[in-house]
Amino acid sequence: MSWLTNFVLPKIRAVVTNKEVPENLWQKCTACGQMLFVRDLAANLHVCSNCGAHLRMGPEARLAMLFDEGRYATIELPKSVIDPLKFRDLKRYGDRLREAQARAGTPRDAILVAHGTIAELPAVIAGFDFEFMGGSMGLAVGEALLSAARLAVLQEAALIVVPASGGARMQEGILSLMQMPRTTLAVEMVKEAGLAYIVLLTDPTTGGVSASFAMLGDITLAEPGAVVGFAGARVIEETIREKLPEGFQRAEYLLEHGMVDAVVPRKELKATLARIIRLLMSPAPAPAAAQAPTRRASP
Ligand SMILES: [Zn+2]
Repeated sequence: MSWLTNFVLPKIRAVVTNKEVPENLWQKCTACGQMLFVRDLAANLHVCSNCGAHLRMGPEARLAMLFDEGRYATIELPKSVIDPLKFRDLKRYGDRLREAQARAGTPRDAILVAHGTIAELPAVIAGFDFEFMGGSMGLAVGEALLSAARLAVLQEAALIVVPASGGARMQEGILSLMQMPRTTLAVEMVKEAGLAYIVLLTDPTTGGVSASFAMLGDITLAEPGAVVGFAGARVIEETIREKLPEGFQRAEYLLEHGMVDAVVPRKELKATLARIIRLLMSPAPAPAAAQAPTRRASP
């Protein structure tokens, strides 16, 4: 048996498995259950062609979708302390991190920061990766948002943040909660510089992320059907012992109740964002000219 399993089976597998073909050709729609061809799904911006559900998308695809001509440059983010509490639940936190990085294929955390242009105006985007430990916010993510804000100020660019996060990273305890005021200050830096700060809420944006930088946008957009809230619906129902209304915590519900400015289908996101950035970031004619330093001719 061991000869069969150890020697013959790997040989057969090697013949049968074609390395050229990626393993996951199909993905199931989480809303309607339809099997979707991965390549078609990517071409359709990860929107189900059957029911129109906006499925989750990774930060790379997100950045390519939003920047002009899909061109952008990611920045290297500062290294932060890894596993400061030496935390361990079923696994060591350090091991969890390494596994998530192996899946992502790069030694990064749950966020990417990139710069480029939108509507030909400079823009910095910080995009979350929900696949990376639920997009949770620890020291590294806080540091990344601070870097994104600094970069936006330096480049006089608009800052766009695209959260997809379950909230604070519990393995970092109080240090993860400290990222809430820290990221709030990062946003303040951008606002004080007179630059636009736009948030695009995607599915899901919950916990400490929804209670800090994600709710501070000059303009807050959301994707259709995105779950946005602080505590989960089940927890709220159990606490207040009341049935919650239909569609509670969904983007459309939040729009009706004044929490977001617009729910924008993914196909229209780029054009909408371009329009907003052009409105907010085009140089104001009179006051800007008055403040510009006048160059004196040297004698
Ligand atoms: Zn579907």
